[in-house]
Amino acid sequence: MPSYAYFHKQFIPLEEAKLGVMTNFLHYGTAIFEGIRGNWNSQQKQLFLFRAKEHYQRMFNGCHVVNINLPYSMDELMQITVDLVAKCGFEEDVYVRPLSYKSSESLGVRLHDLECDFLAFAFPWGPYLDTDKASCCVSSWRFPNEVPRAKISGLYVTNALAKTEAIDNGFHEAIMLTPDGYVAEGSGENIFLVIDGQLVTPPGSDGILIGITRDTVMQLAKNELDIETVERHIDRVELYTAKECFLTGTAAHITPVAEIDHRKVGDGEIGEITRKLQNLYMDIIVNENPRYAHWCTPVYKK
Ligand code: PMP
Repeated sequence: MPSYAYFHKQFIPLEEAKLGVMTNFLHYGTAIFEGIRGNWNSQQKQLFLFRAKEHYQRMFNGCHVVNINLPYSMDELMQITVDLVAKCGFEEDVYVRPLSYKSSESLGVRLHDLECDFLAFAFPWGPYLDTDKASCCVSSWRFPNEVPRAKISGLYVTNALAKTEAIDNGFHEAIMLTPDGYVAEGSGENIFLVIDGQLVTPPGSDGILIGITRDTVMQLAKNELDIETVERHIDRVELYTAKECFLTGTAAHITPVAEIDHRKVGDGEIGEITRKLQNLYMDIIVNENPRYAHWCTPVYKK
């Protein structure tokens, strides 16, 4: 089935969406990207975009940081996304990649005096980490927290170094530390530990990306399981002694971590709290829990 892109204000086949080689962002990473999931509910024969508005709000914030004037309103972006995914017609889980970028075909490192544009495309994408229990390593690459909390394309090269180092060493994913040596996040996920029956996760002030899945997990833990999340610095050693650990992300959903640096997390099986959160989350993203229906946007007209 063909994929489509929204490109230069039109819907066109994905393979026809091409950029010039001098496009500014291609050279300097001067772009903000997002990742939004469309989750297929086979019973309802419907595809649901999950918390798409929150993703676009984060994109607006990121654009503000890097001087990108996004020429669309929230409602327009939502409509473009629904129309794009509906046009693709997939009956499986999809991933939408919106990108706001410095579009001038002009070189020179800067953010000023450059035009901006927005594109988006959708394609089928199954499980991201492709394992039900991940093994992780602490990366030798420290993550940059100078320009935190935005999905700036150029910043992701550190994440890519960390990810490939992890794969080369036989792990599924890397856990990056802050320059101060505290636990930060995975290359494309936030991280949670279960310590003394509470959830613990690094604070925004450590420079992590404030994940939408992270927020979802914190709300579900509080409202559905009566478990508070403590946002605090996490020492590396706590990774080894926590009872449970899991990663969260739009692509990775909630992925349990069974092993870190060759040490089992807990007993090496999926922990009880992780399992409960996973079950809740997997129902909610396909709009099977009416309490959270406001997070789901249906794509297909019935
Ligand atoms: N951290 C990083 C570095 C990421 O790339 C992502 C994926 N967007 C996340 C965390 C998780 O964010 P979200 O739950 O909003 O996808």
